[in-house]
Amino acid sequence: MYKGKFVSAVILGGGSSTRMGRDKITADLCGKAVISYSIEAFSDIADEIIIASAKPEKIEAVISDRDFGVPVKVVLGGRTRAYSAKNAACACNQACDIISIHDGARPLIDREAILTALDAAIEHGAAVVSTMLKDTVKRVNDSDEVLDTPNREEMRAVQTPQIFDYKLYMSAVNSCNLDIVTDDAGLIEQYGHKVILTEGSPRNIKLTTPEDFLTARAFLTEGKPLMKIGTGYDVHRLIEGRPLILCGEEIPSKDNLGLLGHSDADVAVHALMDALLGALALGDIGRHFPDNDDKYKGISSMLLLKRVMELVAEKGYRVGNLDITIIAEKPKLAKFIPKMRENLSAAVGIPIDCVSVKATTEEGLGLAGQGIGANATVLIF
Ligand code: MG
Repeated sequence: MYKGKFVSAVILGGGSSTRMGRDKITADLCGKAVISYSIEAFSDIADEIIIASAKPEKIEAVISDRDFGVPVKVVLGGRTRAYSAKNAACACNQACDIISIHDGARPLIDREAILTALDAAIEHGAAVVSTMLKDTVKRVNDSDEVLDTPNREEMRAVQTPQIFDYKLYMSAVNSCNLDIVTDDAGLIEQYGHKVILTEGSPRNIKLTTPEDFLTARAFLTEGKPLMKIGTGYDVHRLIEGRPLILCGEEIPSKDNLGLLGHSDADVAVHALMDALLGALALGDIGRHFPDNDDKYKGISSMLLLKRVMELVAEKGYRVGNLDITIIAEKPKLAKFIPKMRENLSAAVGIPIDCVSVKATTEEGLGLAGQGIGANATVLIF
């Protein structure tokens, strides 16, 4: 309850995303689905969240393993935004006092803007988040000839959330023409009720084109170092009767020698994971994948790498390049290196020319054939 009011937060996730060429609502943004940012923003303000989508199963797929601490329901969207909002509104809890309608393609909505609009909606019945215009606006005819220049001071760009007294909104929905409105406040205006605009933020952008993702990512990673580097080092002992796996590639060994370890003992990938975790200052692989945990017994280190890459994404970073040196007296590794680079390129999701794997011996002076070591350096940004 917010100030004694039951608040239902509707999130619209039903667009066809034609301008993005993919489903922007479920797309990844810094390690999370776009829609999960909006759900999180409303989860500690609203009493329930209702998502309207043309493809409810796609929404379910990206949120089903999350607990947002508030009931989240997904309903089928309608043929336009207004109908989707209506469908969601009809699914609101009977106790609903206030309905907040937000565009799921606006992941950067902040708490302050929501609360300001919510307070105004409680007081006036209808409030919409908006911003001042930075550009001068021209009114044009069908031939793009300028008709006039409205006074910019009198104009506002409206965003979401658009927040209404639930009974007012339902009355408007049931008595107005849903086909002629482009936003939810348009219905309230048609109904003859005053709509108050509250201050939003230029950050509350709507993800419409692929460039908008770059902007959103820049906002989300603002203040973080642009680049980070990390190093990793690991050694495993060679013993008889174990497979020899390096960078996800099984290397035939005529001595039947492989590396000893709790997992598949892929020493090169271990060094790489330590470098990635090091760049993020998240400790080492021993902390993330304890070697006394049965679930990691014999596991492919490439699977563990996948989990580490999820952590990199969750922190808002991507890998720039990586460089691994494998230290082994035997076997000779040169001919396996192209495949190793391919494996890592696919696992880390970067071009092959950003993946370096080298092999060296220590001239019999170091590990001297008793084991294999690896050094890794990565850059993330
Ligand atoms: Mg290791």
